[in-house]
Amino acid sequence: MNYFRHITISIASILALSANADAPSLNIVQGAKSSTSRAQHNTIATTEPSNKAFINGKEVKVYSTGAFADVVTLNEGSNTITISTQNSSETTSQKISINYSAPKTANTIQNSPSTRPISPALNVKTLSDAYLQFGNGDDRLGGTKMGFIDKGITLKAISQTDNLYLVQLSKNRVAYIPKNLVAETLDRAEIINSGSWSISQSRNTDRISISLPMRLPYQSWTQLNPTTICIDIFGATNNSNWITQRGELGMIKHVDWQQVDSDVLRAIITLKDEYSWGYSIGYEGNNLVINVKHRPSLRLKDLTIGLDAGHGGKYPGAIGASGLKESFVNLDIVQRIKQILEKKGAKVILSRDSDIDITMTQRKKIFINNNVDLMMSVHNNAGGSPINEMGTSTYYKSIANRDLAQCVLNRMLDLGLRNFGLTGNFNFSLNAPTEYPNLLLEALFMSSLPEEEMLADPKFRQRIAKQAVKGIEDYLKLVKQSIKK
Ligand SMILES: [Zn+2]
Repeated sequence: MNYFRHITISIASILALSANADAPSLNIVQGAKSSTSRAQHNTIATTEPSNKAFINGKEVKVYSTGAFADVVTLNEGSNTITISTQNSSETTSQKISINYSAPKTANTIQNSPSTRPISPALNVKTLSDAYLQFGNGDDRLGGTKMGFIDKGITLKAISQTDNLYLVQLSKNRVAYIPKNLVAETLDRAEIINSGSWSISQSRNTDRISISLPMRLPYQSWTQLNPTTICIDIFGATNNSNWITQRGELGMIKHVDWQQVDSDVLRAIITLKDEYSWGYSIGYEGNNLVINVKHRPSLRLKDLTIGLDAGHGGKYPGAIGASGLKESFVNLDIVQRIKQILEKKGAKVILSRDSDIDITMTQRKKIFINNNVDLMMSVHNNAGGSPINEMGTSTYYKSIANRDLAQCVLNRMLDLGLRNFGLTGNFNFSLNAPTEYPNLLLEALFMSSLPEEEMLADPKFRQRIAKQAVKGIEDYLKLVKQSIKK
């Protein structure tokens, strides 16, 4: 950053000899560096929107945001990129000198952080907001999450990386857990016999209570056709000789079990409906309690919708070439969605309604505490080419939420946007909760100049908001149709 500022100032002072106050502005946003190992070099700058702009002599489009860009193909060795802006009377030019050397044959093996054994094994107990990971991958969103688990669960740590423990869930299953989510304990993880199950209905949920002599780790997921919630309880052997259902149930068709390994007991909860409205899992004492939500009324005016505007406060997210902040765009779109939903009578819960930063855990708690029926997080993407439209995309974690994400994506594509895809098993924190259907919308790319121009236009943000609401309405219709069958 300092280096870049230095170049701008020194060139500006040279130009000052010939330029006057009428000279067009020229501010290099990206590409001013002295060396690179990529032949395709993104060169991005801004000027007044009414000016012309040239990169290496080629005229490039100046967007209404004032941003312009080109992807320059570099030659091996030293290169000069000349950037000029022109108004009716003056020209301003700057040069970037950049050295390109092709990368040596890349070592493409992704090294996992090395694991060191812990001997003897260490007993640890989960704290609030703990979650398990399948692997120790360290991509942008962390290792793939197995799911959140309750506090007070004893785990046996058998090895460690700098930030993670590898814990033995059962004889044949291990998982990773961040070290800051557990504390050492004198209690020991053991294999135990499960007790009786009780299944009953309360006002908005069906409730399954599985009695256990101690808190054990678990993993849950949803399967389709028929829609089934599965929960593996690690360290449990079936001794549940009473699985008792008390009265009629709202959402659950039946409950069954499998001993999938000598020390892994699976609860199998088959739903009456094709579409699940979520479930919670946690301990009450040592009873593992699963609350399966009933289908709510499918009219928007009876629903509570959670909306999350990504980033905020000191975390602006992606910043467009013109300086447009993702945190601002996200919040503006969310406020527009809120307005449309409220006009239709829905109750809306926002994770933030101003430019503040708030953690993922806080956001999740707001939605769970307000018992939302559905949640959409709104972000805008970054990466790829600055000169092309990159597109719109939606994301989900559980297969149970795929149709919801598809409905919103379809409505966004009606705007004529490029399809960047429908992504599943997405590791974003706000896609992880099982308590309510949810999706992430990455409306467009902040880093694409044509898309930044669209996002800078309040009218276009309104269109995005309208389409997002239509997507939610389509989902409600889909659920309605599935019930009639
Ligand atoms: Zn974002």
